[in-house]
Amino acid sequence: MNRRNAHRNSNGRRPHRIPEDAKEKGLVTLRFLGGARTTTGSLHRIRMRDGDLLLECGMYQGHRAEAEAWNRDLPVDPARVKAVLLSHGHIDHCGALPNLVKRGYRGPVWCTEATADLLPVMLIDAAHIQEVDAARINRHAKKGKPQKQPLFTIADAERTLRQVRGVPYGHPFEPLTGVTARFVNAGHIIGSAAIHLTLRAGGAATSLGFTGDLGRRDVPILRDPEPLGAVDWYMTESTYGNRDHEDTGDLLGLLEDAVLTVTRRRGKLLIPAFAVGRTQLVLYLLHRLRVDGRIPDVPIYVDSPMATRATAVFKKNRDLYDEEAHEFLTCRGSLFQGARTSFVADVDESKALNRLDGSAIIISASGMCEGGRILHHLRNHATDRRNLVLFVGYQAEHTLGRRILEGTRPVKIYGERVEITAEVRRINGLSAHADRRGLLRYAQALERPPKSIFLVHGDTDRIAALQSWFHEHGLPGAKGPAPGDWARLL
Ligand SMILES: [Zn+2]
Ligand SMILES: [Zn+2]
Repeated sequence: MNRRNAHRNSNGRRPHRIPEDAKEKGLVTLRFLGGARTTTGSLHRIRMRDGDLLLECGMYQGHRAEAEAWNRDLPVDPARVKAVLLSHGHIDHCGALPNLVKRGYRGPVWCTEATADLLPVMLIDAAHIQEVDAARINRHAKKGKPQKQPLFTIADAERTLRQVRGVPYGHPFEPLTGVTARFVNAGHIIGSAAIHLTLRAGGAATSLGFTGDLGRRDVPILRDPEPLGAVDWYMTESTYGNRDHEDTGDLLGLLEDAVLTVTRRRGKLLIPAFAVGRTQLVLYLLHRLRVDGRIPDVPIYVDSPMATRATAVFKKNRDLYDEEAHEFLTCRGSLFQGARTSFVADVDESKALNRLDGSAIIISASGMCEGGRILHHLRNHATDRRNLVLFVGYQAEHTLGRRILEGTRPVKIYGERVEITAEVRRINGLSAHADRRGLLRYAQALERPPKSIFLVHGDTDRIAALQSWFHEHGLPGAKGPAPGDWARLL
């Protein structure tokens, strides 16, 4: 995620300062360090006699100074950490890893094979943003002021990547003596996993299930989340613990209509989309419409280097597609790419799109228009009535995407006032997270009721809502631990 966007997304949340050590009592303890009562900076620690195991090592995206201090210092002792397990490649789950490595962590980082493919895309991009950002601030800094250091550099990210170990879904492995782990498909993004852990100590055993970020059923390309089985302790995300998603509706129909509208007007269709996940989804749907003859063969440009790299990860991991996508791939030879689909590489090519004649579809990042090449496309194309800006993802408060969607005119792009005259539409219901019904269904699919349920990765109101929702549906007593709280598992 773009840095400016990351900070603005915070809505005032601040990370808590918590001491590294809580003097937990018990053979096996679980401590909630980050991503507790908030959706960012996911970080949980399992402490056993032989050392610590981290579940996630996410970057805290929020208030500038506090977030920075959190990400730099992390309330963990790298010398005690023996292994890190990641649920998936989103930065709020893996983005603080290079800092952990910078602080001396040399152990393995376990994740699924597809997440291992995605991590270079995510971490190198995050490091690049850090470096560019620090350089920009230092350029404008007053003389004599200390130079700003990036949180981590590309070299730190590269070093981290050498510690990554990809494991297939369903394969048991032993990240630490006494711990057996298994990744279960969570259907959230490519490679995403829920984690099943069996923990043994002092002749006894217990088990913990962690959803990571949980996806939705019936989304294109990705398979539905798979059940975790039986667990004693259950830790679930709560991002949308307070709501039911709108029906996805007729996705193809809405997209078809947008394309037909612009082609009739000989205009351009601009789609701001996150580089990982959303771009591939849109490409797949467009390709399907095209081969079904529902839309004309207009050129499609994917103008985001990160999206191009992420698409390669999707292509490599075709064994993870759902049945429908598999079938399509077998018949058509490609999921994402028709004859007139181009992945734009350099900046000159990107700028050349400004002079493009006739109808075209441009998919570019960032998804909330807070940076990236979508900005120059908006500046150049959103001032033409024939064109259409189509939002396919959530637009957070205080983002340019939200302002455009809500009708603020003019808007500022690169410091200039831009009068948006293009038509603006949005397609709802493409969230990558389960809603409260999905979260409940997944918890109810456990083979037996767990001893305790911990609600994490959600704002306080969402957690409270999910607590009641679970209670009403036969899962009473779920807790929403505060940052720094711990629980004895054995
Ligand atoms: Zn995620
Ligand atoms: Zn997340």
